[in-house]
Formats: sequence, C-alpha cells, structure tokens
Amino acid sequence: MIMQKRRLGRTGLQVSVIGFGGIPIIALSRDEAEKVVRHAYERGINYFDTARAYGDSEEKMGAALNAVRDEVIIATKTHQRTKEDAARAGLKQSLRNLQTDRIDLVQLHGIDSEEVLQKAMGPEGALRALEEAKTQERIDYIGISGHNPYVLGKAIKTGKFDAILVPLNVIDRRATEELFSLANEADVGVVIMKAMGGCGAPLQYPQWGARFLGKPEQDWPDSSEFVAHFGKDGIERAKRSLRFVLAHDIDTVIPGPRSIEEVDHIIKVAEDFHGLSNEEKTAYKFEQLPPEPFCRKCGLCMPCPDGVEIPTILRWDIYYRFYNIKKWTRDQYPKIRTRVNSCTECGNCEEKCPYSLPVIRMLKEAKKRLE
Ligand code: SF4
Ligand code: SF4
Repeated sequence: MIMQKRRLGRTGLQVSVIGFGGIPIIALSRDEAEKVVRHAYERGINYFDTARAYGDSEEKMGAALNAVRDEVIIATKTHQRTKEDAARAGLKQSLRNLQTDRIDLVQLHGIDSEEVLQKAMGPEGALRALEEAKTQERIDYIGISGHNPYVLGKAIKTGKFDAILVPLNVIDRRATEELFSLANEADVGVVIMKAMGGCGAPLQYPQWGARFLGKPEQDWPDSSEFVAHFGKDGIERAKRSLRFVLAHDIDTVIPGPRSIEEVDHIIKVAEDFHGLSNEEKTAYKFEQLPPEPFCRKCGLCMPCPDGVEIPTILRWDIYYRFYNIKKWTRDQYPKIRTRVNSCTECGNCEEKCPYSLPVIRMLKEAKKRLE
C-alpha cells in the first residue's frame, strides 16, 4: 500500500502522514541508523526531521539520504537564538552534516516562552539568519518548534512561519484547544511530535525508560488505569497513541523508530487507520475540551511570588477531573515542591493570565481534589 500524503500547509510540500523523528537514531551505530532511515524511505516515508542539537542525527540522516536527496523532505532545527550563531554554528553545520546545499525546512528549535520568541525574532535574532538563507536559496521554508501552544500561536500570528512542530498525545492535547485552528486559518503546516509521550513528556509514557515498545507500567501506580487509557502492552500503546494523533487534522507525525521492525509497525498503523472506533472516541473524550474554566498551561502567570507551581497543579487537576486519571495525579501532587497551601492570594497570577481565569478559586478546588 502507498503511504498517504498530506499537504504541509502553505509550503505545498506533500509529506507522508507518518514522518521520521530523528532523535532515537543517535543511539544506533552509523550502519544501523542508515539502514533504519533507508528502510523508512523505501517504505514510503518522505519526511525526515532532525536537529542540529540531536548529536550526530543530522550526519546519519545526511549519509542515509544522500542518494535520494531530491525524493525526500528534510526538516532540521536551529537552537541558536542570535543571527550570527544561527548562521555560523547552526545552518552552515547543518548543511554540511546533511550533505546538501538546500534544506527544505529549518525550524527555530524549542521556542517555549514569549521572551525567547522575541529574542529569536528580534533585529539580531536567529530568524534573520533563516530569512537570509531563504533568500540565498539554501533553505526553502521556515518553521518553529516548541512545547507551549500559546507561544506557537503568537508565532503563527506574526506570519513568519510556514510550519509548526508541536506535541500532541492522549494526555497533552493543548494544541487542539486553539492552535490547530490558528494554523488552519493561516495555512501553516502542522507537524506532531511526542505522539507517544516523548522523552520528558507530561506523564512520561510510553517511551520513557523503555524505548518505543517498552513497559512503562512500573511508572504508573495503577496499571489497570494505565491499560484503560493506553492499551495492554507497548505495541498496543504505540498503535493507539498514533491512531489518536492521526484522527486529528494534522499533516504529519514524527515518531522516532529505532529499528526496521518499528518502522514497519508505525507504517502498518497508518495503513490500517480509517478513523477512531466509537470505543476509542469514548475512552479519550475525543474532540472534547475540559469544562471551562480550564488552564492552558501557557505559563504566563509565572513566576508566582510564593513559588506556587500554578500551571502544573492546574494541568494535573484537568487530568483528574476530565481525563479521569485519579490515582496518578493524587500520588504526584505531594511531590510538587510548592503547592496551593503556600498561596497568599496576592492576585498576581489572575492579573497576568491571558484567559482571565479565576486562578485562586481554581487552585483551591484543585487542592480539594488532589490532596
Ligand atoms: S494568588 Fe497565590 S498562586 Fe497566584 S500569584 Fe499570588 S500567591 Fe501565587
Ligand atoms: S493559569 Fe492562566 S496564565 Fe497560568 S498557565 Fe494557566 S492559562 Fe496560563
């Protein structure tokens, strides 16, 4: 079967709905990495994502894709924030590593706060380097990656970016709240990372410590609760996680396979996907948002003068009251360093919240549930 392709927003690039995430190949030998990347290409994947910051991932991809360069779309990233660094340490090195004179998409990497966005977009910011490189035809399109949908929404509104790279998974669906519609309106391409939780994801499932097909139940105090959400084993979990993402209006998703077997597995999931079953939709409360008021975890209310970890507490409260993940959240709450009982009700957070949330009241209610 031929891999389904989707249009990556206004870039017009036709990208395979399953792309290739380039972090895990860092752990493979050069030979192994090249075999896995080439196998992905041969099975119909044409979108390959890497980054200057991912060890030797760019070099391995460059070597694996050199002979088919014009058949594939390569996306990399620069974590540099200034124009000079992005041009010299970032782009120049990426071109060399990838063995190419032209990169399809270069993304500002990990833009997670408005301050960082402003710096990267300032007169001497990294974006300038990418714009110059575009004029010189060394890159075709400019994108942005980050974990804070609020900040990525701001970036889209500047009109400077052709694509976004953002997390989406069963637990972290913040991108569905506003960002996808903003991207659609601006015809910006949507690429999804951390479909299976990624490393350091909100609940660190299911890749954490166990690779792609691992056994994260040990990290989940109530295994029956975990199974109800994510399936009984790693293969089932990977499948369900990907199906959940594919059911959204996204252009491509980039899980990071570490073997030929994993490549075949993720491709099969895409080939077999014809929409979620009713059982899946019910289990995941598909396309529903938490009842208002709810926190978007944008982080703008921070820092709290008393150190209360507002976004984390309010997000976990959503896991508790909306996604029904009760035991885990109650086990985790006491581990938060500064909790609701430290709040002096100064009102700072309510003034700063762009969604005008009644944060103090919400924290008190969260405390009752999570304690
Ligand atoms: S009201 Fe409470 S949580 Fe909000 S900023 Fe003040 S002390 Fe922090
Ligand atoms: S309380 Fe408001 S400002 Fe703070 S993280 Fe949530 S949505 Fe953002």
